[in-house]
Amino acid sequence: MGRIGVHTVRDLLFHLPRRYEDASTVTPIGKVELGTDATVIGEVMDKGVLPTRRGLRIFQAVLRDRSGVLECSWPGQPFLERTIRRGDLLLVTGPVRFFHGKQMQPREYVVLGRAEEAEAGGKVLPIYPTTEGLSQKVVRAIVEQNLDRHLPLLQPAEIFPRAQLEAAGLPTLMQAMALLHRPEKLADAERGRRRLAYEELFFLQLLHALAADRATAGRGGISFQRSDRLVGALYRALPFQLTAAQTRALREIFTDMAAPLRMNRLLQGDVGSGKTVVALLAMLLAVENGYQAALMAPTEILAEQHARTLRTLLGELPVSVELLTGRLTQAERRAAREGVESGRAQLVVGTHALIQEGVRWHRLGLAIVDEQHRFGVRQRLALAEPPGAAEPGGDPDVLVMSATPIPRSLALTLYGDLELSVLDERPPGRLPVRTALRGEEKRGAVHAFVREQLGRGRQAYLVYPLVEASEHVDGRAATEEYERLSTDVFPDFRVGLLHGQLAGQEKEAVMRSFAAGELDVLVATTVIEVGIDVPNATVMVVEHAERFGLSQLHQLRGRVGRGGEESYCVLLTGGGEAAERLQLFAGTEDGFAIALADLRLRGMGDFFGARQHGLPELRHFDPERDEDLLLLARRDARAAVAADPELRTPEHAAVAAALRARWAERARLYDVG
Ligand code: ADP
Ligand code: MG
Repeated sequence: MGRIGVHTVRDLLFHLPRRYEDASTVTPIGKVELGTDATVIGEVMDKGVLPTRRGLRIFQAVLRDRSGVLECSWPGQPFLERTIRRGDLLLVTGPVRFFHGKQMQPREYVVLGRAEEAEAGGKVLPIYPTTEGLSQKVVRAIVEQNLDRHLPLLQPAEIFPRAQLEAAGLPTLMQAMALLHRPEKLADAERGRRRLAYEELFFLQLLHALAADRATAGRGGISFQRSDRLVGALYRALPFQLTAAQTRALREIFTDMAAPLRMNRLLQGDVGSGKTVVALLAMLLAVENGYQAALMAPTEILAEQHARTLRTLLGELPVSVELLTGRLTQAERRAAREGVESGRAQLVVGTHALIQEGVRWHRLGLAIVDEQHRFGVRQRLALAEPPGAAEPGGDPDVLVMSATPIPRSLALTLYGDLELSVLDERPPGRLPVRTALRGEEKRGAVHAFVREQLGRGRQAYLVYPLVEASEHVDGRAATEEYERLSTDVFPDFRVGLLHGQLAGQEKEAVMRSFAAGELDVLVATTVIEVGIDVPNATVMVVEHAERFGLSQLHQLRGRVGRGGEESYCVLLTGGGEAAERLQLFAGTEDGFAIALADLRLRGMGDFFGARQHGLPELRHFDPERDEDLLLLARRDARAAVAADPELRTPEHAAVAAALRARWAERARLYDVG
């Protein structure tokens, strides 16, 4: 059992079924298809041993259910004649091929009982993770022999107070284990799973609650008052009406800002959903109250872009915008810093420079972090708690923004210390990006199409996947491709190259020339900046599209369609199994739908990959089914911390011990270790 990671009694109990089979999950015999792997349940109608010419003896049985009959054959296993009887109800799994008709060669079989005794619905069969040389049958037998004896030894038997479980309607850990290993119906196994999922979520939310408690302990927020001097003026001056989603998010933000507690909120909205204007209105509320507001972006280009956008939106309004990045000259930086310190700079936009260089604020009231997943929890806190900001009025409110559309339940899981506002609607009037799938043999035609767009003065992105997991190889492949494209394919256009191996400064320089229209084509790996805005870029060609995750493709596609012109996204692919996934992507621009599909296809670990700081390992939580559990876990964790911030009471002793034992690493990440 060591081979599958089972060494102790606890490991054995937690070696849980991967899935379950019962009459409702297996294929009706009449629907079994040739060339597939199937699992069916049927009654043994007939059986016997056939000799073959080469001396091999084959056991055969004919199974029947209401929809049809299927012949099963076990070459070289004549002894089954003695264990499988006529009238047995058999579950079999294996490949189905053509041999005088449909025939299965079961990899595995289980006798479920006598057919005449089987009740409707029948028995549920747990399917365990296995490994070579250790069959399902053996694992199941080991678990079966040990379950009753070892379940009572599970220590500690229960970490949650009984009242907490009862209120949540969940079984105890021991009950859950029994339900998972030996369910009578599928719903039993589900009840067991939910209990384990709750436990995972509870600890994650507990960490969030502890972090939030540490961050706010003894610190009050600012109560901003609405005077409408600036907020109202901007509303009236905007060339468009806010969407319903923007209005809702603003109402949530303003309510938080007016309250005496610190705001700690996540504004999530797909690319182009209009987060910037929401951020600006919130910043103006701070300015109206005599405070400064900060907006931190992950790169210099994005910071510059934000500063430009804010100035444009502000128009004639008397509000100063200061830019503070590493790119300023010494003198400029000194001047910018002086503006921040004196309070002359009301809105301050910048990069890490905002938190790295000992910037002293005159009176910071609101800290906004854009593309929050690019920063760690600590950096977010660093901006919110800058030196010099401990004003009598209170600590700055915090708003973080993210363009990664993830399902609400998942956002609450990952950012449980934050309240959540979602922009789930796009401003009207945007042209959809036309997305097409093309086989690689069409590359020539696709390049001709790109030429035609370039001929009209447009710009294009040509994106290549990471060739290997090495930045070095990746850089080389992109470089070769770049050379080929610039000399053979687009010799009469200006082609630039962007890949992960370039230094930060070089990357910024290339992006900047592309944004300035000094380059027509950008050959790039996936390092194209999130949020970069080049309205004149109307074509994106993605090579080997099948190697990208759907969410990644969605972020890439968001780089085009940002101006008034029709835009295109062409996915080049070798075809194969990825085609269906890519078709789905081509058919929608709904970031949430894409994220959900991606999540389903790849599972949580791969979905976030390297993108996410400190992804928790959630093995039982299912973001599609468990939103209610999540809200329960969050409520319970917050209540526990509110009542007992140090988790010192006997009631929480087991929870505190489990937190130390199992979640120590994550606790350090959250600075609550
Ligand atoms: P995000 O940062 O969420 O990707 P932006 O804030 O950059 O999106 O907004 C995308 C574009 O939509 C900008 O050009 C912005 O001026 C415009 N915009 C924002 N809100 C509206 C609205 N309510 N109606 C029309 N256009 C809007
Ligand atoms: Mg933005």
